[in-house]
Amino acid sequence: MKIMKFGGTSVGKPERMHEVAQLITKDATPKIVVLSALSGTTNSLVEISNYLSTGNRISAKASIDKLEAHYRKFITELVKGENFQSKANSIVTEHFEFLNIILRISFSDALNKDILAQGELMSTKLFCVYLEEKGIDHLLLPALEFMSIDANEEPAFTSIQTKLHALLQHHSDKKLFITQGYICKNAKGEVDNLKRGGSDYTASLIAAAANADVCEIWTDIDGMHNNDPRVVDKTMAIEQLSFEEAAELAYFGAKILHPTCIWPAQQENVPVKLLNTMEPDAAGTTITKEAGSVGVKAVAAKDGIIAIRIKSSRMLLAYGFLRKVFEVFEKYKTSIDMVTTSEVAVSVTIDNDTFLNDIIKELEPFGIIEIDKNNTIISIVGNEIAETKDVMKRMFDALEPIPVRMVSYGGSHHNISLLIDSQYKREVLQLLNKGLFGL
Ligand code: ADP
Ligand code: ASP
Ligand code: MG
Repeated sequence: MKIMKFGGTSVGKPERMHEVAQLITKDATPKIVVLSALSGTTNSLVEISNYLSTGNRISAKASIDKLEAHYRKFITELVKGENFQSKANSIVTEHFEFLNIILRISFSDALNKDILAQGELMSTKLFCVYLEEKGIDHLLLPALEFMSIDANEEPAFTSIQTKLHALLQHHSDKKLFITQGYICKNAKGEVDNLKRGGSDYTASLIAAAANADVCEIWTDIDGMHNNDPRVVDKTMAIEQLSFEEAAELAYFGAKILHPTCIWPAQQENVPVKLLNTMEPDAAGTTITKEAGSVGVKAVAAKDGIIAIRIKSSRMLLAYGFLRKVFEVFEKYKTSIDMVTTSEVAVSVTIDNDTFLNDIIKELEPFGIIEIDKNNTIISIVGNEIAETKDVMKRMFDALEPIPVRMVSYGGSHHNISLLIDSQYKREVLQLLNKGLFGL
């Protein structure tokens, strides 16, 4: 079994969808194909939802109409036959009728999730109409029948696995399955999602649940690059990464992968390939247990980081102090990214400020609390970099003009993290590109 996931740009135009159909029928291997919404759709749905949450129905309606016009045009080029045009039109009508109905009901979080699900529901159904027109045998597997998250918003893996197996067993005569990325059911049985970019997560979860031979993530670039191509001019694709390296890069900002999508594939040891729909023959990036070469492979940046410093002279020799500090973050389900300690202070970083005020209040009895917002974590990722000679020297030489606020080194064999003020991000990524990769 092979899992093939196609992102927004890969299905964003009718001709791209036609190419996806070619890519998934190149060989006879049984496949589960995971599709994102057409590019731009989820952003539009977020916008519609935001308008509705503030009671701005007029703007919501304008956005709905604009999106509908986009889909009406899309299907005229997607399928040719009258019968298929009419099928595709009915699908678009059904989903836009839903969006127009919600204009009239009161907004809620559950409704927001329903709105966000429309993109993947439409892209998969429309793609299936095209496959039907082409006479390609397939089955649409609704993700809402097997993909779920638990009360902690974590994938309910055992349930996903059991339900997926049952569905595949039930349709054992089929070789090609199409399903939605991103969307799922939550513990309350409502429609929910795996957060932005979550189709990668869907693909990896399915790959692990189905014990697939490979999980292919098809996107608009030829693999994981050594630096953020949106920020730095000269970047290059990396041939081979270990699961750990890829997970660190995804978590610390390499947008090509959803932040937590690697663990399911890693758990079941399913190789992940990052491939380019626009250049299908390019090697791309292969992610497996083995790291391949030793040394620095890439840098990534994660914005929106808040640093919290707790200064306390009582910390001196006080065992149990760090536990008490961490318990506060655990209580507010806020995960910590970086930690540095001295004898009189501990600094941690978080990326979620939902409970910041409560956290500060509970930390205050421990000492003086300082909050520093608008930071970026720069992660330097590679294989055994902590043991690789002169990485630290090259890194600090490159960063000579930059004030570095925190450094985390030695926590793992494949990561060095730096905290900087976000205003220096672009400069830092460029300087490191030169200093570490000579680019
Ligand atoms: P998709 O819609 O296929 O899921 P995304 O937009 O989520 O695609 O991810 C692909 C984009 O990720 C690329 O176009 C690129 O701009 C961006 N990106 C950021 N960092 C990296 C990196 N280190 N390597 C490759 N792409 C990256
Ligand atoms: N459509 C969703 C998003 O734009 C999920 C995805 O593309 O992975 O975030
Ligand atoms: Mg993505």
